[in-house]
Amino acid sequence: MDTDYSVIVAGYGPVGACAANLLGYYKIKSLVIDKEKEIYTLPRAITWDDECRRIIVPCNFADKIEIRKIRGIDHINGKGESFLKIRMAEEDRYEYQVGPTFMYQPEFEKAFRDNAETYDTNQFKLGFEVLSYEENKECINVEIKNLDTNTVQHVTTKYLIGADGANSIIRKKMGVKYKSFKYDEPWMCVDGFSNEDLECFKDVDAFQICDPKRSLTIINSVNNKFRFEIMIMPDDDLNEIQKEEVFYPFIAKYLKNRKFTFTRKAIYTFHSTSVDRWSKNNVFLVGDAAHQMPPFMGQGMNSGMRDVENLLWKLSGVISEKYSPSILKSYETERKYHAEKIIKASIAMGNIIMTPSPLKAFFRDIGIKIKSLTKKGKRSFYPGYSGIRLGDGLHNHPSERSHIFRYYFPSILLGDGSNKTTDDLLQKNFGIILNNFNKDVSISENNCNILNKIDFRILNFSKNYMKSNYSYFNYFKTSGRDLETYFNHFECDAVLLRPDKYIFDIINFDDNDNLDQIISDVIIQLKSKEIL
Ligand SMILES: Cc1cc2nc3c(=O)[nH]c(=O)nc-3n(C[C@H](O)[C@H](O)[C@H](O)COP(=O)(O)OP(=O)(O)OC[C@H]3O[C@@H](n4cnc5c(N)ncnc54)[C@H](O)[C@@H]3O)c2cc1C
Repeated sequence: MDTDYSVIVAGYGPVGACAANLLGYYKIKSLVIDKEKEIYTLPRAITWDDECRRIIVPCNFADKIEIRKIRGIDHINGKGESFLKIRMAEEDRYEYQVGPTFMYQPEFEKAFRDNAETYDTNQFKLGFEVLSYEENKECINVEIKNLDTNTVQHVTTKYLIGADGANSIIRKKMGVKYKSFKYDEPWMCVDGFSNEDLECFKDVDAFQICDPKRSLTIINSVNNKFRFEIMIMPDDDLNEIQKEEVFYPFIAKYLKNRKFTFTRKAIYTFHSTSVDRWSKNNVFLVGDAAHQMPPFMGQGMNSGMRDVENLLWKLSGVISEKYSPSILKSYETERKYHAEKIIKASIAMGNIIMTPSPLKAFFRDIGIKIKSLTKKGKRSFYPGYSGIRLGDGLHNHPSERSHIFRYYFPSILLGDGSNKTTDDLLQKNFGIILNNFNKDVSISENNCNILNKIDFRILNFSKNYMKSNYSYFNYFKTSGRDLETYFNHFECDAVLLRPDKYIFDIINFDDNDNLDQIISDVIIQLKSKEIL
């Protein structure tokens, strides 16, 4: 049956806007609906990490968004002493990595919307509320209300994405349950700016003040904009604390009484929840509709963008009949595991920040100092930034190490003098990167046909010139430092990548392997996961 759209996205917050961009990139006929006409202006997300930036790089507008690389975060105890200082540059493994960044959400969301609205395949209904949906064997019928005229209409789609936030109507209609991690904390968020120099931000951009008397977060984001998060204590009067003369003294001593202009404030209760089912037939939940977490690792919106990326390479491949529809089951298994790890890590960070007594804080400081003596120990405090594996799904968990990280890669100088990254060359397709493969690179007609159907890419970094009969075989003479770092680290000869650059498998060649044999094995692996 023909439907009005292939995909409908309910909700045009940052996660719905990310979905709209990828749907445009994949040229999928889509409708995005939001009850609000304008971008939500209250202070919320402030960090955007490099994995999530990478998601939208092929949409060609990432460079228009003003970002500032986060140099570091310092954790200060009640006595004003640092007990955990994380410098992000020390975490970078590859040249290509940008690392986590700060951005200014209203401008960030505007850039997402402006670009999403350039795709011919995208349509928008803003000022429309999604009321309900019915799914039958042939389509999903979505009931929406025009909030200007109060008229109700119906639109049909093959797939429905619920990006409609914490109070998701799609989630309620799906009848899925919310699991609470029983961690709900009230904080006040204040945004402001200052044109004065602040010495304390010499080598870090954020402070977590982990004082049992009152915890605070102080962030220097982009263009002299600041975010202050102030813990609400049991005796606080919620009206009083929002007055500048009441809250400013809490932060003033850390900022040496510099002058600030405060622009916005809001009291939030941060929840920690995740749904038990992320999809039902052809309806999927993404972003806050599927999970909520405290903001101590800046991962709420980022996790939603990861959901969108994971779902949309699968959905677009199914819609274009490249991949089998059974791969959609892996959306839940892969993302639920990942998101819940991040929720638990955010709660753990919250417990560090909000240690309730000076005695506990004393032992906390000692424990953390010991753990952060090793790089691995220090990295464990911010797993959202250094990589978390996916749950079971479309990958072979090739080794304990390789599934942790996505594949990062530097730019490559091509023969015509242009610079590209392997992301540019692979685009959002399956592909294999071979390190110095010098055997026969011809591929049988049967295998070529299978690879062509999914636009599979082969990149070979070799000392000797190579030419194959397969059209998506690319040879590069130079590899650069990062390639060596990567293959040495994982002790492998090749890496098989998914469209989102998670590692499907790492491969070691046998002496008498030829490329056709390697590709035959790859096809067997992809079939074993029901991708083909
Ligand atoms: C103080 C604070 C700080 C934070 N800091 C960070 C951070 O630094 N980094 C980070 O990654 N995350 C952070 N977060 C979390 C982040 O803001 C959220 O995870 C993110 O906004 C979720 O995006 P979303 O698009 O899923 O949902 P939302 O932003 O809630 O958007 C949902 C959209 O759906 C629309 N909608 C809802 N119901 C309907 C309906 N029935 N019909 C039509 N439209 C509907 C709404 O109007 C809205 O536009 C923070 C949150 C807070 C509160």
